[in-house]
Amino acid sequence: MGYAVPSQRGSGIHLRLRSRAFVFEDPETGQLVCYVSVDGGMASDMVKMRVLEMLQEKYGGEVFFDENVAISGTHSHSGPGGYLAYVLYQTTSLGFVEETFNAWCTGIYESIIKAYEGREPASIFLSEGNIGDDANINRSPTSYMLNPEEERSMYPDGDTDKIMSLLKFVSKGDGRLLGMLNWFAVHGTSMNNTNTLVSGDNKGYAGYVVEKEINEKQQGGVALPGDGPFVASFASSNLGDVSPNTLGPRCIDTGEPCDGSTSTCNGRCEKCIAFGPGEDMFESTRIIGSKQAKFALKLMQLEEGQENVEKVLGPIDYRHTYVNFPRLNITMNGDKVRLCDAAMGYAFAAGTTDGPGMFGFTQGESSGNPFWDRVRNFLEEPTEEQIKCQHPKPILINTGSMEKPYAWDPATIPLQILRIGQVFIVCVPSELTTMSGRRIRSTVRDLVAPLLEENQVAHVVLSGLTNGYSSYVTTKEEYSAQRYEAASTIFGPNTLLGYQQELARLAKDMATGKSPSDTDFPPPNMLRDMVQMMPLPHPDRHPIGKEFGAVLNDVKSEYSLRSTDKTDRTVTAVFQAANPRNNQRTQGSYLTVESVDADGHWSVWMTDGDWDTKFHWQAGIDEKDAFGFSRLSKATLEWIIDPESTPVGTYRLCYSGDHKTMVTGEVKAFTGCSSEFEIV
Ligand code: ZN
Repeated sequence: MGYAVPSQRGSGIHLRLRSRAFVFEDPETGQLVCYVSVDGGMASDMVKMRVLEMLQEKYGGEVFFDENVAISGTHSHSGPGGYLAYVLYQTTSLGFVEETFNAWCTGIYESIIKAYEGREPASIFLSEGNIGDDANINRSPTSYMLNPEEERSMYPDGDTDKIMSLLKFVSKGDGRLLGMLNWFAVHGTSMNNTNTLVSGDNKGYAGYVVEKEINEKQQGGVALPGDGPFVASFASSNLGDVSPNTLGPRCIDTGEPCDGSTSTCNGRCEKCIAFGPGEDMFESTRIIGSKQAKFALKLMQLEEGQENVEKVLGPIDYRHTYVNFPRLNITMNGDKVRLCDAAMGYAFAAGTTDGPGMFGFTQGESSGNPFWDRVRNFLEEPTEEQIKCQHPKPILINTGSMEKPYAWDPATIPLQILRIGQVFIVCVPSELTTMSGRRIRSTVRDLVAPLLEENQVAHVVLSGLTNGYSSYVTTKEEYSAQRYEAASTIFGPNTLLGYQQELARLAKDMATGKSPSDTDFPPPNMLRDMVQMMPLPHPDRHPIGKEFGAVLNDVKSEYSLRSTDKTDRTVTAVFQAANPRNNQRTQGSYLTVESVDADGHWSVWMTDGDWDTKFHWQAGIDEKDAFGFSRLSKATLEWIIDPESTPVGTYRLCYSGDHKTMVTGEVKAFTGCSSEFEIV
C-alpha cells in the first residue's frame, strides 16, 4: 500500500503489523461490542465481510455481526496493499493480492477470538489529557484558516487536536492491567515514501513499547512482541490534515520554506517535503511513537478520584447504518443540498508534504490542465452535472462512474456509533480533518447527552479509517481551497454535512431507543470479482553446496556494549534465502536473536517484530542465471544492540524461512543460525 508510489516495493520487516481487539460485554444485558485496531493503511469493507463470515461460522450469527463490530486502521503507510475492494486503492499493488487479504482476515479473526475467549470481569477508566505541542502539526494550515474565526476561537488547541483519550482495563479479579486503548490524531507517515520495510509507523511503535514494558513488569522475563497478554492499542482519529513531521515542510534543494498554499518549491511539489523531528525517518518514528507511548503510560497511572480520570459506567450499545452517499439528500434549515458521485480532484495527484506526488500536479489547484483532462476523459468523462456538483474541484479521476473491471470508489459507506457507558466511539470510514472531526463530535455529543446520569458527561471519540475506506472529509470552507485533503473529499463540498446528518440520526436512535437504525443496502461483496496481477512467488533455488539457511556472511565474534559508534554495535549475518511470501509466519518470525543460558539452552531474546531488529530480503543475487531470470535470494538479519537493555553473554542470529520446491511447488520450512558471538 505504502504511499501508492510504484517504486516502493517491500523488501523486509522492521516492525510486524498487529491486529488488537477489544470485546466489551454488558454483564446485565449481555449486549456486546467489539473494537479492533489494525496496524495498516485503513479498514476494508471486504475484509470486514470475510472476518464476520469466519466469526459466524464459529459462533453463529448472534455474537458478532456488522452492527456491533468495528475494525479500524492505524493508517501506517508502510504495509502491503491489495486488500481493499476498489480499483483506485489497488493501482500500485497491481490489483487484489490474496495473501495480503488473507493475512488481514485471519489476523483480525484470531485477535477477536483471543479477546472474546479471554474476557473476564473488569473495570474501565477513561483518562484524557493534552499531549503538548510537539507531537503533531497541521499539514494544510492555510485551509484550516478558512474556517470561521468564531469557530476556530472555540478551540485553544489550535489547528490540530492535542487531546489523547484513553481507556484502561483493569481485572476485577486480581487487579492486573488487561489492556489499554487510546485515540490521538496523527498520520502514520513518520516513515516516508522511500521506506521499503514493513512497519507499524509511530502508532505501531507506541503499541510495541507499551506492551513490552507492561508485560515484562506484570509477568517478568522477556515479553516478545505480539504475544500479549496485555494489549496496548493506539488507534487512529481525525488525522486528515495532521502530520507527524513536526519540523514542517522545506524545499529540499534550497532549505527555504515552501510556498504556503500550494506546497511547492519553484512551482513543483516534489521538492517540498516535511521533516520529522529525528535525523532520519526511523528516529522520527521512534520520537513521535515515544511521545504517544509515554503520554499513554502517564494517563494510565492516573487513579480513580484524581483529576482527568473517571470510571466508565453504564450500558453497552451500538448503532450502525449504510448510507448511499451520492443519493443522500441533506436538509439544512429547510433547504435541500445533495452529494455527488465520487471523484478525485487534481490535487489528489499532488500528494502531500508527507509524500509528494508526481507528474507536476500541485495542491490548491482549482483549474484543470488540458492534457490531463484528456487522459481523464479517456478513462471516464464527467457529466456537466457532476462538474457542477463537485465545483470548485477540478475533476481528475471521475471514480464514481468507473466500474471496470469493478468499482473504483465506494458509493455506500458504513457509519457506526459504539457506546461504552459515557464513552461514544464514532466510527467513520474516512480521514476527517481536524475541524471536520470537531464538528461531528459536537453534533453527536449534544444528542447523546440525555442518555447519561446526572453526574456524567458524554465523551465522544472519533475512530477514523473504520469499517471501510472512502478517502478524506474536509469542511466546506476547507474544500474551497482544494488542497490534497479537499481534492480527496470524494462526494463533493457537502460531504461533511452528510456525515453530520447521518451520525446525528444514529445518535438520536440511540437516545430514543430505536433499534435497529434504518439502513441502505450494504455494498456488494466484490471478492469473487477481484483481479490479481501480482505474480505468485517463483520456486526457490540455492547454489550447489549452499543449502537454504546457509550462512553467506557470518557475524563477528565479539561486540562491545561500550562502543559509542552504533555501527560497531550492529550485528549482521547474511543467509541463503527463499521468498518470504511463501509463508508470512504470522505470530512467528523470520528472524530470532537467541541467547544461551548456563545449561546450554537457547532461548529467544528478540524477533523480527522488535524495534532493534530488521529483516531484509533481496531477490535476484545471481544476475548471470543461465535462464535469464533469478530464483536465488539472500536474507540479511540485522540487530542493533541497545547498550541500556542488553545483558552481556553469548548470542546467535537465526533465520527461519520456507522454500517452494521446483517440481511439486510444495512449501518446506528450514532454519539456519549464525556462529555464536559474545556481547561484552
Ligand atoms: Zn492519509
